[in-house]
Amino acid sequence: MGIELTCVCEKCGYEFEADVGVGFLYPKVYVETIDAMKEGGFGQQGKEFLEAFPNGAISCENIVVQCNDCKKLMVVPELSLYVPKEGYDFTKSNRKKRWSSGFSGNDYEYVSPIELNDHYQLFEEYDHRCLYCNGHTSVVPGFTECMDKSIDKRVSCPECGSMIEINFTGIWD
Ligand SMILES: [Zn+2]
Ligand SMILES: [Zn+2]
Repeated sequence: MGIELTCVCEKCGYEFEADVGVGFLYPKVYVETIDAMKEGGFGQQGKEFLEAFPNGAISCENIVVQCNDCKKLMVVPELSLYVPKEGYDFTKSNRKKRWSSGFSGNDYEYVSPIELNDHYQLFEEYDHRCLYCNGHTSVVPGFTECMDKSIDKRVSCPECGSMIEINFTGIWD
């Protein structure tokens, strides 16, 4: 279950809405994302990683990044790259566990966020490129499910540069 966040610029009227986190269809999204990555759909970094580590795994939860050049905001799968910890036999991982009550996920070969956390180690963070201008991007920490008060819940407006509040607006799945 992910959450929906919205920001509206009071100065220029710019609006942006994002569904972040992990959705109900995660196993399906995971498989589709890995397949696209193998084809180079997320650039060379992912393609080369999966060629070098066929048992590699990725984090597929949605995050928001901002382009360092054109300042546009976009929702992307997180895509950090992981490799199994030494001694972890992923072929024995428990596929009988249901993903959720409404969607078993049994038909999909995926690595859940919990497995990722317990049995994999981070290999490399993903260098997300802007979908509009191919510039480098930075993760906007305020677009997160985490309610930690120390996280700045603001982002600079892509249109006019003023700081705008990121607000929780609902839950998606
Ligand atoms: Zn850009
Ligand atoms: Zn603005």
